[in-house]
Amino acid sequence: MTFDLSARLAERRAAHLFRQRPLLQSPQGPLVQVDGRELLAFCSNDYLGLASHPEVIRAMQQGAEKWGVGGGASHLVIGHSGPHHELEEALAAFTGRPRALLFSTGYMANLAAVTALVSQGDTVLEDRLNHASLLDAGLLSGARFSRYLHNDAESLGKRLEKAEGNTLVVTDGVFSMDGDLADLPALCAAARRKGAWMMVDDAHGFGPLGATGGGIVEHFGLGIAEVPVLVGTLGKAFGTAGAFVAGSEELIETLIQFARPYIYTTSQPPAVACATLKSLELLHSENWRREHLNRLITRFRQRAAEIDLSLVDSPTPIQPILVGDSERALRLSALLKDRGLLVGAIRPPTVPAGSARLRVTFCALHSDAQLDRLLDALAECWPLVAGDA
Ligand SMILES: *Cc1c(COP(=O)(O)O)cnc(C)c1O
Repeated sequence: MTFDLSARLAERRAAHLFRQRPLLQSPQGPLVQVDGRELLAFCSNDYLGLASHPEVIRAMQQGAEKWGVGGGASHLVIGHSGPHHELEEALAAFTGRPRALLFSTGYMANLAAVTALVSQGDTVLEDRLNHASLLDAGLLSGARFSRYLHNDAESLGKRLEKAEGNTLVVTDGVFSMDGDLADLPALCAAARRKGAWMMVDDAHGFGPLGATGGGIVEHFGLGIAEVPVLVGTLGKAFGTAGAFVAGSEELIETLIQFARPYIYTTSQPPAVACATLKSLELLHSENWRREHLNRLITRFRQRAAEIDLSLVDSPTPIQPILVGDSERALRLSALLKDRGLLVGAIRPPTVPAGSARLRVTFCALHSDAQLDRLLDALAECWPLVAGDA
């Protein structure tokens, strides 16, 4: 018995599914240096342009000077420092929930919340297009795990009929690869009718969505009764790193007591929390970032319709162009790169088979002229790959 890794890798290459990491040689921003070339990028999740904001950088520098660099220990030992605590209080106020709990990554926040709330004898129901971390969390929990049709409250309702034990319904708020919004009013109503709890991971909604950046729950006006478990990540529109779960006093205390991905890991560097406190302030107050993003999205969708791009029904900065075949998606991405534009091709297993796409994302720092450069290049390149389906 041996591990035949080379065969596995060769198979992946042959299927046009081999992944490569572009080497970023500059900070995040519309214009980046990648693999030795300057490119105009439309693929970052830094939607509001806060990852390289001078005030956020200064907050992190000052935080490091005051608090040092490392977290030092887990939160329950001696790693829970002033900035972590202050950030949790600020996030609770921002989300309008009694408490919030800080994590080092969104992946861990999701593992923690799901595994602390359900286990053997319980049920977890997830949208089939949920983020991988939510699906992994459902499997790890040991609860009966079932996936309902994408964004379909009726399909969820049928599964709720057969649910046993504590039942957790889990959905992305904004779907990460499609940019569409979860139909939360309908999904929450279905869950509540059966006494199930709703957990929403709004990694891509906080910042761009809602009048003050409060994400999908602010967009739909949903409170803690409808969404008792609310997750946000800090590495996207917040521009920093980490994640949080917001909810009731009891929920947060349960996570502190029982969530293994919370307990058995070192706290994030306190300076990162200092940076996030500043970015939260900017995210909340600087409405021009959301307004400009919305103008970019509207203009992109109008002109995309004129050149017959196949888009998804998305009102968010995530605007995928559906290509279907993985090889053609790679080809379109390469054609754009030849013209100085960086847009990532997203292929299975990240998205369902046959739904490869270019995942275009916008940032509040993109100019109108930069958007036009993308559209002009798409008008030229799209017919070259769309014709030979
Ligand atoms: C990115 C993402 C995560 C993971 O968050 P990280 O902080 O990057 O680990 C979780 N859920 C969704 C929906 C995401 O898009």
